[in-house]
Amino acid sequence: MALRVHNTLTRQKEEFSPLRGQRVNMFVCGLTPQDHAHLGHAKTYVAFDVVARYLRHKGYAVFYLQNVTDVEDRIIDAMREKGLAWQDVIRPFWEEYLEAMDSLNVTSVNLYARATDYIPEIVEQIRGLIARGHAYAVDGDVYYAVGSFDGWGKLSGQRTEELRPGARVEVDAKKRDPADFALWKARKPGEPAWDSPWGPGRPGWHIEDTAITIHHFGPQYDIHGGATELMFPHHEAEIAQAEAFTGSRPFVKYWMHTGLLNVKGEKMSKSLRNFWSLKDALAEYDGEVLRFFLVYAHYRSPIDFSPEAVDEAKSAYGRLTDAIGNLEAEMRSAPETGIQDHVVRAAARSARETFDAAMEDDFNTREALAAVFDLAGVANKALGQTGREALADAQAAFETFGEVLGLWRRKGRGAAVSEGLIDALVALREDARKRKDFATSDRIRDLLAADGIALEDTKTGVRWKRS
Ligand SMILES: [Zn+2]
Repeated sequence: MALRVHNTLTRQKEEFSPLRGQRVNMFVCGLTPQDHAHLGHAKTYVAFDVVARYLRHKGYAVFYLQNVTDVEDRIIDAMREKGLAWQDVIRPFWEEYLEAMDSLNVTSVNLYARATDYIPEIVEQIRGLIARGHAYAVDGDVYYAVGSFDGWGKLSGQRTEELRPGARVEVDAKKRDPADFALWKARKPGEPAWDSPWGPGRPGWHIEDTAITIHHFGPQYDIHGGATELMFPHHEAEIAQAEAFTGSRPFVKYWMHTGLLNVKGEKMSKSLRNFWSLKDALAEYDGEVLRFFLVYAHYRSPIDFSPEAVDEAKSAYGRLTDAIGNLEAEMRSAPETGIQDHVVRAAARSARETFDAAMEDDFNTREALAAVFDLAGVANKALGQTGREALADAQAAFETFGEVLGLWRRKGRGAAVSEGLIDALVALREDARKRKDFATSDRIRDLLAADGIALEDTKTGVRWKRS
């Protein structure tokens, strides 16, 4: 079985074959932390978290890189409005984003690269583009000359910005062609700026991604992901910059785009008053339930978010985690063998096959979850008539599925014990030790260890960690 990935560039599913053997370099457009991250972000970042997890499960060494747009027009607008330094504008939103990713169990990113840490690479790339005749400087600004690149439009099939009715057309007299885009923007009063051969200024949005990826991955890499809305002009601009700068084609082998997240059938937007920040959503719903809701659809499909739909996902997910929990509880008391052993074993094997086949088909998590539900049904019906080892087979399958999808981590060892409870037990153990009641203190330590929680005595007191 071979993994097939839908490639936006060729508009078809292709067999996945990375450029460098088992190494996979993957980049996904990251956040501009000038406002609260929202549910659309969650959809994209959960999707690529699953992609990275599955590739690692398949044995690939994945380097997953995400950029952080930490200087941009909207950040500068917010700076002016709030009277803050740009660093102070982004800090709270960035921290909120990381917390949200943690709640959603998005753990696979290797590096968050901040645009402002790559100014020398950005400047070098812009110089190269000017030298090769793909860019021009005007009064401290630098623009990419779209007409100089023969591949413009090959990803999206689009060559110019579609003008929406009523949209304001910004005419920039400095541009040779209205489609040209800024690589470098000259400083305006009060703006953050960096030195460059064209005077103080800051990078345009598109150039940061190619500066970061060429620095880390070289001229070509395997997967570029992002939301569909970014395909034009952002991803076209990346291709134009990178291929013109390095001369290597294709810049990216597989382009992957996630479907939209709508709210009750409408595009989510602040003006429609149907905007869900991730923070609000996570105050309302458990992160794991939200993740399940997102994963229970194919990543390229649009998702229609509504409180009712999440409630439905919540009960489906509850049934599944209950079933897995029942199975684990039964494992502790079941006899060695039972009359349903062969049924459960066969179900576990076939669930693994179906799960993998679904994931091999362009990461079809919806079909993969169907296999998980099937196994849960069979295993639960067989409880009481199945032996420990056959149950362990099923349990191991659930564990693999959970690792790939990033789900039911609370079923895992120690995860069910809340932090407050662990802290309380650690305090009780300290009390027992002070009384020299070592039998009790050892017993508490052993009970926690059985749930995967390790205690460590340090100079400043006892620390614990989940193993
Ligand atoms: Zn990007």
